[in-house]
Amino acid sequence: MRTQVGIIGAGPAGLLLGHLLHLAGIDNVVIEARSRQYVEERIRAGVLEQNTVDLLREAGVGQRMDKEGLAHDGVELLFDGTRHRIDFPSLTGGRRIVVYGQHEVVKDLIAARLALDLPLYFEAADALIERFEGDSAAIGFVHEGKKIQLECDFIAGCDGFHGIARQAMPGALDAVFERIYPFAWLGILAHAAPSTDELIYARHAEGFALFSMRSPQITRLYLQCTPDEDLSLWPDERIWEALDRRLGTADGWRPTRGEIMQKGVTPMRSFVCEKMHHGRLYLAGDAAHIVPPTGAKGMNLAVADVRHLARSLARYFDHGDEAGLESYSQTCLKRIWRAEHFSWWMTSMLHRFEDVEPFAARIQESELRYVVSSEAGSRVLAENYVGLPFSD
Ligand SMILES: Cc1cc2nc3c(=O)[nH]c(=O)nc-3n(C[C@H](O)[C@H](O)[C@H](O)COP(=O)(O)OP(=O)(O)OC[C@H]3O[C@@H](n4cnc5c(N)ncnc54)[C@H](O)[C@@H]3O)c2cc1C
Repeated sequence: MRTQVGIIGAGPAGLLLGHLLHLAGIDNVVIEARSRQYVEERIRAGVLEQNTVDLLREAGVGQRMDKEGLAHDGVELLFDGTRHRIDFPSLTGGRRIVVYGQHEVVKDLIAARLALDLPLYFEAADALIERFEGDSAAIGFVHEGKKIQLECDFIAGCDGFHGIARQAMPGALDAVFERIYPFAWLGILAHAAPSTDELIYARHAEGFALFSMRSPQITRLYLQCTPDEDLSLWPDERIWEALDRRLGTADGWRPTRGEIMQKGVTPMRSFVCEKMHHGRLYLAGDAAHIVPPTGAKGMNLAVADVRHLARSLARYFDHGDEAGLESYSQTCLKRIWRAEHFSWWMTSMLHRFEDVEPFAARIQESELRYVVSSEAGSRVLAENYVGLPFSD
């Protein structure tokens, strides 16, 4: 089998890249290790920054997002028992976010791909990057018991943090910058109507908490916990009581309770592999970088990478212009490090660090007070949260 771009991974990065390449008239094949049902039901990110919303609309896959997504004009920071609102449009020239689950974006992209009859192999086993230096590239995989050899001009490694593409990239290990945080998030998905319209980020003596939502019927809530937290020690009642303490305000507001449909622990890590391309192999999304979810940047960064990769590949195939491909890592890394800083900053400002000396705790409190009381401070948070405009 032959194509122009072989894409490994049908997460948001791989599927959107495939769609953008198709719109640019470039053939591509997507292979995915998991089943369609698994990727469509995988609950992860849910905040789309303005750039992501605009791009999905331009690419013709934003109709359901526009109908079912929840447009938000701000977030609230809660500390010392009081909520402080950061208004996005007034601080960013009208930009905002849309709350729409990552798995819904994935469903829309899969539906678009299948409607266009474009090749997408689910449950592709034993994927192997066979060649990516020289004049061409190749991926081998097994589908329905048959070995398939995919010959291509380029390979896009959109296979997430645990995929094979970064492992295959020469020199990747030496280009890694990493920070692992001494805490994690215990996340729940509850069948409960959100009791307020916007996300609430709470700093509390017991630890961070986040109130968010996925739809008018579903609430998504998080509690700071230990990285090896034993979920069996967290019956539903204990989770709701902790959420009440950390998110409750003096006026009696508490999150509405409901049946907990899903519980999980998400580790917190900052990770960048600065080597994002070599020969004919390109990395995009979580394959190259991870952010702690506090800044809501993971999926948005994946989208920014593939937007740039699709444009660079189009310039190459249309005009033989290699400039975009050659500078791919440097161009993406500017945005990646901005998001890494923002995510680290939000994490550092809002979480409880064990053994932190009283001085550092006072610094955290002072920073939060500054962010909510100074227009300049609020704007730093707002413009990063809604996403800085693309520079090209
Ligand atoms: C548990 C969890 C919770 C998260 N929560 C949030 C959140 O609340 N907010 C936020 O902003 N971000 C969150 N993120 C981050 C966000 O979801 C990611 O940044 C986003 O999924 C990146 O998209 P991607 O397409 O690069 O990678 P992925 O979504 O990981 O997609 C990679 C795909 O490649 C496939 N694959 C892997 N190896 C192979 C192989 N060998 N062959 C074929 N296919 C392969 C995988 O099955 C997967 O479908 C979370 C991430 C995780 C893991």
